[in-house]
Amino acid sequence: MKIVMIFIAFLFASLLFATDFTVTSMPEVQRKSPPEDVKNIPFGTVFSDHMFVMKWNEQKGWHEARIEPYHAFTFDPASLHLHYGTEIFEGMKAFKNNQGKVVLFRPGEHLKRMNRSAVRMMMPEIDASFAEKALKRLLQEDKRWVPSQPGTSLYIRPTMIASQNTINLVVSNEYLFYIIMSPVGALYSKGFKPTAILVSDQYTRSSIGGVGDVKTGGNYAASMKAQSEAKKAGYDQVLWLDPVKRQYVEEVGSMNIFFVINGKLVTPELTGTILPGITRQSVLELSRANGWKVVERKISIQEVIKAIKNGSCTEIFGTGTAAVISSIGKLKYKDREYSIASKPDSFTLKIYETITGIQQGRILDTFRWISEI
Ligand SMILES: *Cc1c(COP(=O)(O)O)cnc(C)c1O
Repeated sequence: MKIVMIFIAFLFASLLFATDFTVTSMPEVQRKSPPEDVKNIPFGTVFSDHMFVMKWNEQKGWHEARIEPYHAFTFDPASLHLHYGTEIFEGMKAFKNNQGKVVLFRPGEHLKRMNRSAVRMMMPEIDASFAEKALKRLLQEDKRWVPSQPGTSLYIRPTMIASQNTINLVVSNEYLFYIIMSPVGALYSKGFKPTAILVSDQYTRSSIGGVGDVKTGGNYAASMKAQSEAKKAGYDQVLWLDPVKRQYVEEVGSMNIFFVINGKLVTPELTGTILPGITRQSVLELSRANGWKVVERKISIQEVIKAIKNGSCTEIFGTGTAAVISSIGKLKYKDREYSIASKPDSFTLKIYETITGIQQGRILDTFRWISEI
């Protein structure tokens, strides 16, 4: 009896979650040559030979899981995601370390976060360990696309979209999940070029009760106006303030933000309007392990400016998968500019060197952030 029930439960589970995938390799002669110097190609414009795809519907759950040659999709013009932005994504990286091994940085954390995005957006969760297994197989297929020069990586983009053909505003009954991969150079090839940031007191990135804490397409579409106005005014990124008082610092561009004030690391606490970055989490773990003082709390723009003026704020940096750590040299807030002089022995540089060192295999991975394929 028990065995029969276990069998039935297993059958049921295997219907909801694909448990295996097929692999269709591209013939050798059709494969493209990966770019020789990824530093010369614009970020995210070139993709590897293969992709992972699976489908979801109410009857079958996730099914038709497969690795196959990279290809375009065709959609009915009514496909739901094209109208209502029902889309979530992740951004993670694979590296070729100094022993020539392909490794992933915290893939489990990224796939867990994708499931949190799915729940918020009424989309089906994926089996994270199955997706990780498929990703590792995909990386094996496209191993030669993982660049090996220092600072380079293979950027991985898991994506999920609602694919029911309807313009009725409903929870979709069909979805597509896929993973594509793009070789990228370091965002800053000449070490750190401190960026100039415009504090936006007009636009906000997310709202209380909204979706700012998940990676869903609309958040980024909605940030473009502020971003392009900042660019036009000569700044690299926007610093976002909280949506109610426009007072508390939230994020910079699509990165989390850290300050060094009186030798202590300070980052905004996660209040639901901030994306919980895995690089942010890694910086917190690293700081605590090294005995550096670090706090997560609300920090107002007035406090930041005061601290820059009196010299107690000595560093500001952004954190995210793409840049890892991005040093901030200048802030503009309400018609005034405030500069932070960069210093050589900074937390910014130490943290950057440690995280990239672990990714490249130069530094022992005591945190178990690395996963070999
Ligand atoms: C992805 C993202 C981050 C950084 O997250 P990581 O996991 O560190 O890459 C920060 N803010 C926003 C808005 C993001 O979309």
